[in-house]
Amino acid sequence: MRFEGKVALITGAGRGIGRAIALRLAQEGANVAVVDLNGDNARDTADLVRNLGRQALVIQADVSDPDAVQHAVNQTIEQLGDLHILVNNAGITRDMLIIKMKDEDWRKVIDVNLTSAFLCSRAAVKHMLRKRYGRIVNISSVVGLAGQAGQTNYAASKAGLIGFTKSLAKEVGSRGITVNAVAPGFIPTALTEVLPEEQRAAAIAATPLGRLGTVEDVANAVAFLASDEASFITGQVLSVDGGLVMQ
Ligand code: NAP
Repeated sequence: MRFEGKVALITGAGRGIGRAIALRLAQEGANVAVVDLNGDNARDTADLVRNLGRQALVIQADVSDPDAVQHAVNQTIEQLGDLHILVNNAGITRDMLIIKMKDEDWRKVIDVNLTSAFLCSRAAVKHMLRKRYGRIVNISSVVGLAGQAGQTNYAASKAGLIGFTKSLAKEVGSRGITVNAVAPGFIPTALTEVLPEEQRAAAIAATPLGRLGTVEDVANAVAFLASDEASFITGQVLSVDGGLVMQ
């Protein structure tokens, strides 16, 4: 029960990796603010959290909207009583070779994947600084470390999250707040189901552990970094990719 009495806000928690993180933290005692663009999915995750005996707050919001983010953080603190853990997980892809990539595809991915982490962290850190306690975990990607053709926008957003993580870690470390990133490899979710079977097979072939990851693999790493067991770890990127990044 590492998160007994803790409140976590998780973005993009309506499905996929975000939902797995919400359930993982709730299993160990956390009350959870489920933030997602899709209200129905957020309500389903919240029901699963409540089935584990925890409180859940549904917040339908676009995490790239500054007002919506400030409101989400305020609502979490008012209704769940505090905010100890922020997981910046919401993310999208709009893959295209650069010569065909539209301005909108670039901006949208940067806004949803990177600017959202700035907005959520800025709002949460104001509260965490006063409490002298906080855990922020940003969901980056192996693509942010290694690059991927057709994903200049996505790779830039995920690499940007790593620089953001290290800089914020330096800024708030003296106040008991840690900031780390998790870099998943290929995890079957709605985000990756659009990829061709050959890409899936190539990912497995390039992964030393010889399999794709699971949403639980990622959630376990996030739970560790969000726990007090990781209280002397900050500014780090933990790859959860079966060794893919080494290839
Ligand atoms: P997913 O299944 O598509 O889930 C993403 C969630 O984020 C969805 O519920 C989505 O809502 C929500 N979302 C999207 N834009 C949003 C916005 N503007 N505001 C609020 N919520 C928003 O994806 P996933 O695979 O779980 O990915 C989660 C994170 O892990 C992402 O940051 C992704 O880049 C990262 N990641 C994934 C993989 C992988 O292989 N799956 C690998 C490395 C990193 P909608 O349902 O409305 O779209």
